[in-house]
Amino acid sequence: MAGVAAGAQAQDFPGNRAIHIVVPFAAGGPTDRVGRDLAEALRKPLGDAVIVIDNVPGAGSSIGAARVAHAAPDGYTLLLNHIGMSTLPTLEPKANFSVLNDFEYLGIVNDVPMTLIARPTLPAHNYKELAAWIAANKGKINLGNAGVGSASHLCGLLYQSAMQTEMTPVSYKGTGPAIIDLIGGHIDLMCDQTTNTTPQIEAKKVNAYAVTTAQRLTAPLLKDLPTLQEEGLKDFQVTIWHGLYAPKGTPAPILKKINDALKAALKDPDFVSREQTLGAVIAADARVEPAGHKKFVAGEIAKWSPIIKAAGVYAD
Ligand code: ASP
Repeated sequence: MAGVAAGAQAQDFPGNRAIHIVVPFAAGGPTDRVGRDLAEALRKPLGDAVIVIDNVPGAGSSIGAARVAHAAPDGYTLLLNHIGMSTLPTLEPKANFSVLNDFEYLGIVNDVPMTLIARPTLPAHNYKELAAWIAANKGKINLGNAGVGSASHLCGLLYQSAMQTEMTPVSYKGTGPAIIDLIGGHIDLMCDQTTNTTPQIEAKKVNAYAVTTAQRLTAPLLKDLPTLQEEGLKDFQVTIWHGLYAPKGTPAPILKKINDALKAALKDPDFVSREQTLGAVIAADARVEPAGHKKFVAGEIAKWSPIIKAAGVYAD
């Protein structure tokens, strides 16, 4: 009987009930941006579903992720999270959920480069001048982030480690609010996804110095920024990715419906062009399948753990 009920439930999914996608960062930031654009692109393939974004920020995404890990496994509560899923197991080992055991994996959405940006009043016109300014201001520099385990935190700790300079971390519930303080000159520096920084770079509201990828970017507004590797930070490379998750135990037919809808969304021309304008690259490989997504995250956990431990002194 239970099997029949689950089958009928899956057939009707989502019906008239709203699907909630938890974004574990504040509204107005890059994860929120991807979440809202994805919700729009998922609506049609899920039969004109109502999809609501719930911002559940705090603790570098672990509060929102825990909320979904412990939610009813019925397909109506999902999580959109980024690379934090692979850094939290090392940075927040006490988080009350297991990244690999408490979720169903629904597919990777995109890969997003980061930019190193600063307050508009920082007196450096290019990366070399920034490096000289950092050397001259040791002990006085504030570095914004979205909490321990966030993408900006990871990038910031790698940058401090590469520069051998300890900066004062200033944590926010997301880089949406953090970039407002950077624009206002209340903090000095931040690493953040191009999906958040590109409009502010275009409006000249922040100074942009470099990209965190191995290759320069092709997006028109970002193509002139050097890579940190070009500027002498050997091996510096961080790319953020986003994935979609459901609580462990969500019925397989519902997972399939959501994964099929995700794959359709990733081909939605409006979604694709919006992502490209902001420097993001839509996933188009084995990671769009649940098994490929999970394998990728397990690999990322293994990859980042020793790097984070090596940069440990900067990880608070
Ligand atoms: N970009 C943020 C981070 O550093 C998260 C966000 O606000 O979306 O992880």
